[in-house]
Amino acid sequence: MKISEMEAGLYCTRCHDETIHRVVYVNNKIQSIECEECHRLTGMKIDAKKELYKEMYDRISTKPSRMTQEYKQDLSKFVSGMPLRVISKPYRLIKYVNETRKVLKQSKHS
Ligand SMILES: [Zn+2]
Repeated sequence: MKISEMEAGLYCTRCHDETIHRVVYVNNKIQSIECEECHRLTGMKIDAKKELYKEMYDRISTKPSRMTQEYKQDLSKFVSGMPLRVISKPYRLIKYVNETRKVLKQSKHS
């Protein structure tokens, strides 16, 4: 169950003015709107239990095996990609240092 909040400028019938309202969403559906000035609460009839059951059903109905396979693929990609990126920088740095030494040696000899 996802509950999110946002603030919106709406017209309040009690304040007779446009005020900041706190809008509460449950699964992207407006559950309540509260005026920040007078705290007038407008509730939208949302059956929390029904929303939860619907969410659980959606989760069960999506294939879990495919999900884990995709997750594993992403994880291996992430793990295999990491050391390469970490190594490439010190390698370039070492190469640079070696070249500098070579240049220094050459300049000494000459
Ligand atoms: Zn108000």
